[in-house]
Amino acid sequence: MKKNEKVSVKIDDIGVNGEGIGKVDGYTLFVKDAIIGDTVEAVITKPKKNYAYAKMINNIEPSKHRVSARCPVARQCGGCQIQELSYEVQLDFKNKKVRGNLERIGGFSPELLDEIMEPICGMEEPFYYRNKAQFPIGTDKEGKIVTGFYAGRTHQIIPNIDCALGVPVNQEILQMILDYMNENHVTAYNEETGSGLVRHVLIRYGFKTKEIMVCLVINGDNLPHFEKLVDNLIKIEGMTSITYSVNRENTNVIMGKQIGILWGQGYITDYIGDVKYQISPLSFFQVNPVQTEKLYGLALEYADLKGEETVWDLYCGIGTISLFLAQKAKKVYGVEIVPQAIDDARNNAKINGIENAEFFVGKAEEVLPGYYAQYEREHGTKAYADVIVVDPPRKGCDETLLQTMVQMQPEKIVYVSCDSATLARDLKYLCESGYEMTRCRAVDQFPSTIHIETVCLLSKRYK
Ligand code: SAH
Repeated sequence: MKKNEKVSVKIDDIGVNGEGIGKVDGYTLFVKDAIIGDTVEAVITKPKKNYAYAKMINNIEPSKHRVSARCPVARQCGGCQIQELSYEVQLDFKNKKVRGNLERIGGFSPELLDEIMEPICGMEEPFYYRNKAQFPIGTDKEGKIVTGFYAGRTHQIIPNIDCALGVPVNQEILQMILDYMNENHVTAYNEETGSGLVRHVLIRYGFKTKEIMVCLVINGDNLPHFEKLVDNLIKIEGMTSITYSVNRENTNVIMGKQIGILWGQGYITDYIGDVKYQISPLSFFQVNPVQTEKLYGLALEYADLKGEETVWDLYCGIGTISLFLAQKAKKVYGVEIVPQAIDDARNNAKINGIENAEFFVGKAEEVLPGYYAQYEREHGTKAYADVIVVDPPRKGCDETLLQTMVQMQPEKIVYVSCDSATLARDLKYLCESGYEMTRCRAVDQFPSTIHIETVCLLSKRYK
């Protein structure tokens, strides 16, 4: 196919970036904004040998799964990819994606998957679910200060203060910040020249506590007349923490390294289940607290603790899973590579009065094998765990780690994953090394996007 050629194509799948996929004469087309079930007229934008990228110019026969986007900038904005697909079909697509990877990459049989895969866990209200948003601040062509989100793969700001995934109060806060900047001649940062003051606004909301945090990221040491902004922001019910973070670097990293308080305290508090977490502007915290509670609740259910177990929680972050499990186990060890996350984990253990959780900073693939070798040297026996939980980033687990996990012979391994392809790869290894998958469920933490989390239980095989 040639550039600018027009074709009509029926879309029957979704690609890794959310684009519609269809075939014309065995040739695969990736069509942005087209969804499963659409028959569209598209123009080829980038032809390759066996496939091409194309742009939809006319939706000849819109899919029956098409819904109108809640957000007026759903197509331009890089945040959502599949907002125009009905939620039911989004869930179906995500479940099939996980299942497909388990079959193709993991080598699991359709019969086994039929038997053990539980129905995907979706949201009742798949909007306004994010407890955190980071809005870039910039200027438009006319020099007007704007905020919103970046368009896909670029740093062009699509103005929008009413994101359908974030909490409604974001809009009020952003409007106050824009008004304050305009009234006090506070400038917006310009990425190209490195000039201008306000770079980003971080807003966090505690779903259970209703506490609100606002943090302005600035390219300077102070925020002129900040008390005028504070006076307005504190009228919002729940306002708990107003801070700033200095970031003068020419980088894509949003936050600076330090936080200064403008008003209130330096953190907000929220709960996952009964466990309380203190969240500072720099802390990692799961962004969809409703689904996180379900996901980690499943991890706990799969672990099936009775109170006497030794548990490892690898890639533990701020210890969300560790502290959840510690309430039901004898001892929990958490391992995480980011030192600040471990500071948070230890602090969170303390404020919850949890004393049976211990945390290590380091790479899981170094800490666990190191612990195992040292234990053997010191005790002459193998280090033992009843349950090992892993929640790795997208690239999955290192094979050295999987090897040590298998050597430790836990009764159960609970694998929480944000990428079902690497999950399937790692499960294949574990299932070839004495384990069997006995439960599995996908949990939708990110409606309107293509991301999907999965939790699996692996049990030691005895026969
Ligand atoms: N369960 C955690 C989040 C896990 S996200 C929570 O709820 O807080 C994956 C985590 O793995 C991140 O915190 C990341 O910093 C950490 N990480 C990435 N590579 C790692 C490695 N090699 N060893 C240990 N932790 C790692």
